[in-house]
Amino acid sequence: MYRGAGGAVVEVFPDSYLARYPTAVETIPFLHFWPGHTFYAVSSVGCNLTCPGCVSAILTADPHTLAGALVHLPPDDVVHEAVEADCRGILFCINEPAVSLPTVLRLAEASHDAGLLFGCSTNGYLGGDTLRALAPLLDSVNVGLKGSSDESYRACGAASAGPAYQAISHFYDAGVHVEVSAVYMRGREDEVLSTARRIAAMDTGIPFQIMRFMPFSGGDREREPTAREAEDLAEAVSPILDHVYLFNTPGTARLSTRCPACGDILIRRGFNGPMGARNEWMSEELCGCGERLPVTGRMTPEWRSEARYAGGYRPTRGLELVRNMLAVAGVTGRETQGRALAAELAGGGLLTLHERIATPQGFCSALQAYAAAGGRPDEGERLASCILRIVSGIQDAVAGRRRPGVYAALGHPLVPLYADKPEISLITAAGGYPVNHDIIQDDLDARRVTAHEIDALRPEIVFYQEVAPVDTGMFVQVCLDAGVLAEAVRRDTVYRLPTGTKMGCLGWVTSIAAMAGIFHPDAGCPAPEVVEEEVLSCVRAVGGEIL
Ligand code: SF4
Repeated sequence: MYRGAGGAVVEVFPDSYLARYPTAVETIPFLHFWPGHTFYAVSSVGCNLTCPGCVSAILTADPHTLAGALVHLPPDDVVHEAVEADCRGILFCINEPAVSLPTVLRLAEASHDAGLLFGCSTNGYLGGDTLRALAPLLDSVNVGLKGSSDESYRACGAASAGPAYQAISHFYDAGVHVEVSAVYMRGREDEVLSTARRIAAMDTGIPFQIMRFMPFSGGDREREPTAREAEDLAEAVSPILDHVYLFNTPGTARLSTRCPACGDILIRRGFNGPMGARNEWMSEELCGCGERLPVTGRMTPEWRSEARYAGGYRPTRGLELVRNMLAVAGVTGRETQGRALAAELAGGGLLTLHERIATPQGFCSALQAYAAAGGRPDEGERLASCILRIVSGIQDAVAGRRRPGVYAALGHPLVPLYADKPEISLITAAGGYPVNHDIIQDDLDARRVTAHEIDALRPEIVFYQEVAPVDTGMFVQVCLDAGVLAEAVRRDTVYRLPTGTKMGCLGWVTSIAAMAGIFHPDAGCPAPEVVEEEVLSCVRAVGGEIL
């Protein structure tokens, strides 16, 4: 972000960072650049585009809210942190580097001076001067394209598509490792196909990442493709380019890298949350057929274990969640929210947020702490005790009853939810037994769970969490195709994981009521609608709002 000063344009927040954390390169995501290595991800705030459904909206739509959370750090200090974290390099990502260009250039130089690699992800909407300054300092770039037409760019507040494509060609000609990601919105299949053709005209070997659109921050839900639609589009793009990948789609086989010569899988990856991939297995650097892997740099099988399904945007998702928790307790002022979010970032709270809120009690403790940080401790306490009273009422009603075995899947029957996810503790609170506890999933040995292993758990009830739009009929069909969970399908006990749609971050309370009604229909638990109204009245009573 810039301002005028004495006839010059200067950065508003020079050498200032919002996020700094080590992460696997596959969460940025880069799939052909030093696979398996850890990089230091850094971001500032702001963007030069305004895309609908932006996953980083908390950083881009209202950067001043988070200005107080920026940490000023000279480039050498950031480099020092990256070295200490055993990173192979630094990647500027999450928000747009063009809005912090002098900072990015200084950091790139310092990285190279220390023998580290430097790269970034960008929307490519860069002017000629920026390109000429940036390209010589980049080892890698992921350019996120919005489409191939001017219309697709106008929807993001830009004039035309041309500059983004010129940027790709400039980076490519300058010898930078280039990967391209292309957002796929339902009804805009032709945009992706035509984008792929334009990239293929440059080099069919450029890795092409199809980002199935997820409507974050109020994006149009009608535009979100189903997993099937996204798979079909990826299939249609595959003949155009050598390496086509599909993101945001649990269960897809299209995140793996195949040998260009014999087609064998060389790196097997799985879904890892929004815009993220996760290594599951890697071959040697040479395929069995003798072909070298189509990657830049060396591979390492010692890949970093990542927060499960958190993807590369965990700081922004975490900040959104904390802001929502502040709002329900009535901390709604922008500056107060900004201060509380800044404190959360500075104290490293985001790193443990998801573990801390994995149970109803944990969530309510965190809610109270945030309300207190926002100057509303009494309101936080009242709200937390009101919510916990509702939860214990349901728990009392189901106490002593036989707990049915429940399996929870993430969008696809062969992708179990990890046992430490909040949804699993909701199943327990509602009087079920989550069989996910009996699935051994190790972070580093991220092998796939087989249909046989899941069926051996003999779940009586199956929940699927909707990642891409899917109705129960479609999910059941995927179960039948995968030859799994036939018993639950036969008994008609497959359900979408219930969520409280009107309650934002408190939706989990109605989930417990809905689950308890499924597990123990004769226990007299309150209906989800009744619970929803009770929670909403608690929120109103403390002057909070649901975002
Ligand atoms: S370019 Fe990326 S960060 Fe910027 S508004 Fe669009 S989606 Fe968000």
